[in-house]
Amino acid sequence: MSTLKALMLSVMCIVICGCLSDPLSESTLSDSLDTFCAKLPRPEYAELDLHESSNNWFEVYLVGDGVWAIYEPHQWQEVISYLILGDNQAILFDTGNGLGDIHAIVKKLTSLPVTVINSHSHIDHIGGNYQFENIASVSTVFSIERSAGLNDALVKEEASAAALCKPLPEGVTQANHIIRPYQITRVIAVGERLDLGGRVLEVLSIPGHTDDSIALLDKEAGYLWTGDSYYAGPIWLFADETDLVDYKKSINYLAKLSPQLVLLFPAHNTPRVDPKILIGVANSFNKVLSGSETSKPEWDGVQRFQYDGFSFLLREDAIPKLE
Ligand SMILES: [Zn+2]
Repeated sequence: MSTLKALMLSVMCIVICGCLSDPLSESTLSDSLDTFCAKLPRPEYAELDLHESSNNWFEVYLVGDGVWAIYEPHQWQEVISYLILGDNQAILFDTGNGLGDIHAIVKKLTSLPVTVINSHSHIDHIGGNYQFENIASVSTVFSIERSAGLNDALVKEEASAAALCKPLPEGVTQANHIIRPYQITRVIAVGERLDLGGRVLEVLSIPGHTDDSIALLDKEAGYLWTGDSYYAGPIWLFADETDLVDYKKSINYLAKLSPQLVLLFPAHNTPRVDPKILIGVANSFNKVLSGSETSKPEWDGVQRFQYDGFSFLLREDAIPKLE
């Protein structure tokens, strides 16, 4: 997420953790919103061709061999879900906010049977799950809890005027937007290999951001779908369900894979990233946890560690300090 979006998201933080003592004034909010929207489209999209299946909510891009990015650019999360095609089956890796009809987009892109798998169960990635019959998931406390759906202030915030650069799709309002319950139809095991026909995806457990975070690896193509464990922007590591020690292990594990990778497909902002960045992300995070790095306040109770092309947002009381 962008700097400006992080500022906007401080409003959400009031809801998540009650950590803002002075909520942003309305004028600050609208200033940041104007700037956030004015920055779109991101320059990285200039080299990609917008596909005809795009509509006024989702932008669709072919980003790899048999890999479609389904991007929600007009909502502040800028979530990217991915449709990954094999010869016999397809995987939909995340379903976005549930504000637009992602099922209709997927139908236009493939007639193969589709199974949904989530990178993790935060609300910006599971919103469209209810539209699909086949949902495979790792089984953790968080993933099971989230499958019951959600209708709280945080969900409403995602459909608020502050979160949007354009009107919601027809029929969707802030009042009627909820995360609908969905049925996990199959439990997937860590390390499981999903054979889609002509393409095998390996399920990698990378807990930290949440306990149910996974990555998908296509070894043959050199593709890695990183979820929220890496994207170009501030990486959120301040939620209650985040475990920093687990995240450190996971990001180092991904960094070790980077020499054999060709492309990263992250779950926010930009869909094609050079895998070499993972080494810098892991090294930087190791330093953060050693207590040797300096940070700046992002908002009350949360600090930002800024690096070239990414940053980490951590709760102040969770930051290790050198003795
Ligand atoms: Zn996310």
